[in-house]
Amino acid sequence: MSEQHFDIIIAGGGMVGAALACALGENNFQVAVIERRPPARDWPADSHDIRVSAISRASQNIFANLDAWSAMQELGATPYEQMVVWESGGAEIHFHAADIGEPDLGHIIENRIVQLALWQRLETLDAVKVFCPASISGLTLDEHCPQVVLNDGQRLSAALVVAADGARSALRDMAGISTGGWGYDQTAVVCTVHAEKGNQASCWQRFMNTGPLALLPMEDELFSIVWSTTPEQAGELLDMDAQDFDATLTRASEQRLGQLSLLGERGAFPLRLQHARQYIKPGLALVGDAAHVIHPLAGQGVNLGLLDMAELVDQLLRARERRYPLGSLPVLRRYERARKGENIAMQGAMDIFKKTFSNDLPPLKVIRNLGLGLANRLTPVRNLLIRNALGTAGETPMLARSNASGQHLKD
Ligand SMILES: Cc1cc2nc3c(=O)[nH]c(=O)nc-3n(C[C@H](O)[C@H](O)[C@H](O)COP(=O)(O)OP(=O)(O)OC[C@H]3O[C@@H](n4cnc5c(N)ncnc54)[C@H](O)[C@@H]3O)c2cc1C
Repeated sequence: MSEQHFDIIIAGGGMVGAALACALGENNFQVAVIERRPPARDWPADSHDIRVSAISRASQNIFANLDAWSAMQELGATPYEQMVVWESGGAEIHFHAADIGEPDLGHIIENRIVQLALWQRLETLDAVKVFCPASISGLTLDEHCPQVVLNDGQRLSAALVVAADGARSALRDMAGISTGGWGYDQTAVVCTVHAEKGNQASCWQRFMNTGPLALLPMEDELFSIVWSTTPEQAGELLDMDAQDFDATLTRASEQRLGQLSLLGERGAFPLRLQHARQYIKPGLALVGDAAHVIHPLAGQGVNLGLLDMAELVDQLLRARERRYPLGSLPVLRRYERARKGENIAMQGAMDIFKKTFSNDLPPLKVIRNLGLGLANRLTPVRNLLIRNALGTAGETPMLARSNASGQHLKD
């Protein structure tokens, strides 16, 4: 079988890999996407994906610049204007979009919608070739011409291979890159519920000593639930009948949204912190969950992955302009330097949050109540937290800026 050559091979066409393929294809890089499972193309109107993402402003800008945002809005993206974080019997903090002159704080979107909108876009790009269903069974790394072998025996080569194949990245393992981290001894129970009081364009998060309970607004009067708790309680929540589940969840939410009623299935995800020791090797770069996995309590996982891919695009455009080899270490090091520190900082912050709020020692409870109360009263602190959550604080890659409007893509 003859070998096909590309500029860039992307393993994984999930949210991050598909966005990367769109951005590179738009810029006339010849791209191969290798994905083992085709995305869902249609679904019953009354069904819900139990996996959703809180999409930051930076990610929204990326999707808009890739011409995929309007399709996401048509398929279903729910804006939220307020976020309420509280601890039972303690302080609470309210974030309002209006405080910083923004129309909203972000959007809640089902993962299947994000992926489908990106696939619809990448399938219009002549420069992108999709291999699906397919996976990579062999990898030979080389600074100038890394090669992969697909499970059906096809051979592909490129100037750079990108691993966007998720937390259990096979490519990362094949490249011999190890990961550090630990299990949180927590499982996230996820599902969709109807709320008696409607969605109020607000996200809610209650901290309990077993873990945070997040209620993310969806269309009409629905919420997506992410309840991180002990594996034992998660098992009970999955096993109990719907009526008991509704009562337990309504109690845990302190009835802030009235009676909550389960719609459809429940799912569970064991939670861990994981970080690849390196993001790069000659001819290879890791992006998204292949590089880092964080606690979902701040809803930042895919947002960080999208910033990775946007930064990588900046560096590849720069390298092409200067005629540097795309897979060379000096090019890839600029990408790693720009992203690794920021991802570690976010992971660390989530870890501290998780540990601080999972502890019922009275002095700790007093300190965190003081902290929440103080942050709520100090407007500059609150606004800084909002800007960080929007992903628009500090230096952002070109694609994540609101005024890029795809302009630089076509330059
Ligand atoms: C309960 C929960 C709630 C979350 N909530 C949020 C949130 O609100 N906001 C947020 O930003 N993040 C959230 N996250 C994190 C977010 O879901 C992940 O960060 C995101 O899915 C990572 O995207 P990715 O494209 O890097 O990887 P993935 O989504 O894992 O995609 C990897 C892709 O690669 C494919 N693949 C895997 N192996 C192979 C192979 N060998 N060959 C070919 N293809 C392969 C897979 O089929 C998949 O399509 C949450 C996570 C959890 C568990």
